[in-house]
Amino acid sequence: MEFEFSLKTRNKIIKGLNGKYFDVCVIGGGIAGAGIFNLLSANGVSTLLLDKGDFASGTSSYSSKLIHGGIRYLQQGHIMLTRELLRERNYLIKNTNFVEEREFNILIDNYSWNPLTIRFGLFVYELIGGKIRIPRMYNDKYNYEGFKGYFTYTDAISDDAYLTVSNILSGVINGSKAINYAEVTEINDAESDQVEIKIADKVTGISGKAVCKVVINATGPWVNETLKMYTGEKISNLKLSKGSHLIIDNNGYIKNPIAFKSHLDGRQMFIIPRDETLIVGTTDKFIDTPDEFAFDDEDRNYIFKSAKRIIPDLKETDILRGYAGIRPLYGRGNSPGRVTRDFHIEINRRMISIMGVKITNYRNAARHSIPYVKRLLKRNIETRGLPQILYQRKPTKSNDELIDQVIMNEMPVYPEDIIKRRLGLFFFKKDGGESLRNLIEIKLKEYKSV
Ligand SMILES: Cc1cc2nc3c(=O)[nH]c(=O)nc-3n(C[C@H](O)[C@H](O)[C@H](O)COP(=O)(O)OP(=O)(O)OC[C@H]3O[C@@H](n4cnc5c(N)ncnc54)[C@H](O)[C@@H]3O)c2cc1C
Repeated sequence: MEFEFSLKTRNKIIKGLNGKYFDVCVIGGGIAGAGIFNLLSANGVSTLLLDKGDFASGTSSYSSKLIHGGIRYLQQGHIMLTRELLRERNYLIKNTNFVEEREFNILIDNYSWNPLTIRFGLFVYELIGGKIRIPRMYNDKYNYEGFKGYFTYTDAISDDAYLTVSNILSGVINGSKAINYAEVTEINDAESDQVEIKIADKVTGISGKAVCKVVINATGPWVNETLKMYTGEKISNLKLSKGSHLIIDNNGYIKNPIAFKSHLDGRQMFIIPRDETLIVGTTDKFIDTPDEFAFDDEDRNYIFKSAKRIIPDLKETDILRGYAGIRPLYGRGNSPGRVTRDFHIEINRRMISIMGVKITNYRNAARHSIPYVKRLLKRNIETRGLPQILYQRKPTKSNDELIDQVIMNEMPVYPEDIIKRRLGLFFFKKDGGESLRNLIEIKLKEYKSV
């Protein structure tokens, strides 16, 4: 039988909930929840994943979309973290068809690292990543005022949302259940060994419930709101940092991703060519709540001015749009750049909260959460070689076929789900996917009416 994971599948799962038992309920369908869901499902653990919005509609579709070890983390002395990230990067390059290795240029000017430090740093970075390369400085392209030249190094780019959705689909292929637009509104264990979860279906307005032994709180920026629902407590070292990007018309400006330091404040930034656009970012600013933030004029001006120094021909009219996301970070430090980018796990009764998971590091984070699940479930769970990506889109000949496949297999509910979180058109196409909106709307409507 053809694989189906659609709006109709969604409605069936919702109807069947009615207090149904699962070993584990994962709250949050961002990369953190998706990775754990996939790993548990591969072990035959009956698991339910719920997201209050679309899958990946939180931070996991608003990142820089890099799969990387983080030159900056190495520079800050986080060698173990860089090593783990590079190992995961290499795994994803080898085992997926949508994590692409790319050659990055790192620019050297008066605001950047000094060439000797960067030469040594890149040598170590490549070595940890499994390549022996003696970095050298080139000056054939960046020879305008203030630039001494550039070095090259290897990293990777991807589509964060598609990686997240592929992990969720892999869990579904292994028999678990996942529902988008299903908000967890109450979590209660009455001190017993089972937890009851109330769910509000935001599509139909109906509410339901599920019962489970273990709850994974993978709600990213909302980790404290979810924990509070259960115990009334909060994690005091959770810090939220807003990061913004500009999407710019590439106009043939650059081919390779560029890493540089902004002349405005010395912050490391990236310009990443993607299909028809450049994604430029990012900013890093603490905010108080996960529900009040926006991409604003200050972000726009800062990113544009920083990028214009690198691409002097860039024009205001090249700016297409912007976006912002929130980093759910755990740690001390009074400036966002100083807080570690490593993940953190906390246990409260039957809830395992996981935060600070980078897109690149989700497999590692999933494996680290398993000992706690094993203890609470009292059963063995294998982690070796897991989680794996089992879902791959079939090649299609037209947009028609592609959209049909997405509607049938990837549970989009609204056009925006396809435009932003299945096909990445908002980020990678000049028109942000608007030319396909009509077709997507018609096809979704047709599907609903059959
Ligand atoms: C600007 C920026 C750039 C970044 N760049 C990179 C990069 O290039 N590479 C990289 O590896 N990492 C990057 N990161 C980090 C990475 O994107 C995040 O750390 C990661 O996406 C966090 O994933 P998450 O699953 O923890 O959170 P999220 O993706 O936010 O997922 C949490 C989910 O929980 C759901 N939820 C919340 N409350 C409820 C509820 N009550 N019921 C049901 N569902 C609920 C939300 O809807 C959301 O979908 C970047 C982050 C930012 C902000």
